[in-house]
This record gives sequence, structure tokens and C-alpha cells, in this order.
Amino acid sequence: MPIGGGAPVAVQTMTKTETADLPATMAQVRRVAEAGADIVRVAVPREKDAEALKTIVAQSPIPIIADIHFNHTLAIKALRAGAHCVRLNPGNIGGPDKVAEVIAVASELGTPLRVGVNSGSLPAHLRQLEYDNPVEALVTAAVETVELMERLDFDNFKVSMKSTSVPNTIASNRLLAQRIPYPLHLGVTEAGTKWSGSLKSAVGLGTLLADGIGDTIRISLSTFHAEEEVKVAWEILKALKLRERGPVLIACPTCGRLQFDMDSVVAEVERRLEAYEDPIEVSVLGCAVNGIGEARHADFGITGAKDAGMIYSKGEPLRKVRTEELVDVLFEEIDKYYERGKVVEFDKTAAAEAAEWLAANEDATAMTPERLAALEKAAALDEAQSPVAGRRFKRPPDIAA
Ligand code: SF4
Repeated sequence: MPIGGGAPVAVQTMTKTETADLPATMAQVRRVAEAGADIVRVAVPREKDAEALKTIVAQSPIPIIADIHFNHTLAIKALRAGAHCVRLNPGNIGGPDKVAEVIAVASELGTPLRVGVNSGSLPAHLRQLEYDNPVEALVTAAVETVELMERLDFDNFKVSMKSTSVPNTIASNRLLAQRIPYPLHLGVTEAGTKWSGSLKSAVGLGTLLADGIGDTIRISLSTFHAEEEVKVAWEILKALKLRERGPVLIACPTCGRLQFDMDSVVAEVERRLEAYEDPIEVSVLGCAVNGIGEARHADFGITGAKDAGMIYSKGEPLRKVRTEELVDVLFEEIDKYYERGKVVEFDKTAAAEAAEWLAANEDATAMTPERLAALEKAAALDEAQSPVAGRRFKRPPDIAA
């Protein structure tokens, strides 16, 4: 799995099982691989975990990283067991001599390492700096780690700098990316629950990835289901159009114009789309008042009303359907599209009936959320192009306070 050097950003996660529990660990490794993990990390805190690595490495469909803290002997055992990479923080492994011993084995075997620092365990000499400037302290610790690797003549590594703070994660990685030429592993450590952790990670990692920083990512969520971390990572990469995997679902936020149970329809569409691997784009609109609106580019879409709805493709009406059949007919059309080799066939009569339904339900004058957003966007553009753009005006004195 190439990391850095322009390779696609790799998705990784970490198993939550006791590593030596082979059936449980292997089941989770397979589940995360199926969900799209490129690499998986396993904790190796005991001898028996290092021992189990041999089997895990042999049976895993994706590369295995051994996660080691404090114990350089375990790091060496993990390398000898065939781990595809070993993660360690040189700062907590017992001094430069012990790091050198690990590096010697990694060099001999040609195995990469992930080296890094965590905000919670910076070296003692950086404590004051950590207090005064936590970002600079993190970056200094990471640069010192890189210098140690270079002194040991080792360059087969990626670097990580973990913080629980989103702003510090962003600022420190931006700084580190300017200072070192090595691949970066990104993550917001102990991000939280599925809900808050996903958002924190999306903001922190998304900002960096949008800047072109980051070569591999892990979303840390408080859940025993590691595949959830993988799904979130993929959503971030897909949202930034950095990688494609599986369908993209677009759904309107709904509003008072909604006349059918869109919550269940979207959930059902999302569930059934999981069976498809192609990056097909499917849209669900809660009503037809906007016409097909911003879902015009979707490969397929549905828009519904109380009794009937419409299936469309690439902005063109395809069929009018009873509301309760919308999802089934949508998937019938998607399946036919693949059977024909990704070709959409429009039946003239059905398309005309759908177009007629659309015309009857469309309302070009309604102020929908989408139209308001479009107006605001156009106004912002006008303002930016205005000759007084960027000028600041004084408030009238009566409201200046
Ligand atoms: S107006 Fe827009 S947000 Fe409201 S239901 Fe229709 S498509 Fe959805």
C-alpha cells in the first residue's frame, strides 16, 4: 500500500479486539477490509499479541500495522512476525538506543514505521513550550523525531502528530507539512462518539486534506465497530472528491413542502445502495416544486409527492410512479442501466407522462430553500464583483455603539 508520494490518501482503522483473540480479531479485520480499509492497525501490548501477529499477517486481506507503546522488544518481535508496518512513538520507547535497535531490524526487513508524537505525552524538555505554545511544541517534538530517524539513516517512515484539539491538529500539521518532506498520517485522537467524533474528524482532517496535506487517515471513534470509522473516512474522502468508492447519495434537507415519508425512503435507498460498488450518484428530493433543480447531474433520482412521484436520470424525467413503489422502481431502473452497460433508455410515453407530472407539480415562483440558497449565492457573487467590494463602511453614528 503506497503512502505518500502522490498516492491516493489511504484509509486506515484499528481493531478493537484483544489482538491475540484470533477469531475475533480476524473477523474484525475482514469486516473493516470489506468496508474499504486499506490498512488496519492492531494493538500489540503483550507477548501473545506479537505471537498472534504471524497468523493475522498471513490471513489478513490488507496490510497489518502493529501498534506498540513503551516496549522496544515487542516492536522487534512484531517486525519479525511479519507486520507490514510498526507504529511507535520514539519518545516513549526507552531512549535513542532502543529506537536504534528497532530501526536496525526495520531496515534489515525493509519494513516501514509510523513514528510520531501525541499531545498527551510530549518529552519533558518541551513542557514549558507546550504550555506557552502547544502547536509549536507538537511540531518541535515531531521534527526532533524525524531528526532522530535521519541520524539513524532511516527514511522508510510516515509521521503522525496527534492531538485531541481540532484547531491544534490543523495548525500543527500545516506547520509540519512545511518543515518535513515525509508522508503524514492524520487523525484527531480520542475524537469522541460516532456523531461528535465524525464531525470533529471531518472538520480537522477535511481542512487539512482540502489543503493537500495528509497521506493516510484514521477516524478515531468510541465504538467497538471499527468499520464505522472506515465509513466515515470514506465519506470525508468522497466529499472532497479525493477518492471514489461506491454510490453517492444526495438528499434534500426536506421542509414544509414534503408530502411523503422521505426519512424512510432515504434510509431505504441508502441501505440498498450499499450493494453497489460503482460511484453512481443517486438523488432523493422531497418534492417537485423546484423541478429537478440541483439534482440535475445525478445519474438517477426520485422526487415524490403524496400519491405519485417521478424517477429521473441526468435531469430528464424517466417514469411517473406511485409513491409507495418509488424505491423499488428506482432500483429496477438502476439495475437495467447496468445490464445495458450503463445506458439509460427512455420510453417516450412513460417519459412524457413523467414530464407532465413534473410540470403539474413544479412551481417556478416558490421560494424553496434551494432557490433561496441560489439567490444568496448569486448576490454574494455580485457583491464580490462590485467596484466597492472589500470596502468597509462606517455604521451611522446612531447605531455605532
Ligand atoms: S422544497 Fe426543497 S427542501 Fe423542501 S421538500 Fe422540496 S426539494 Fe426538499
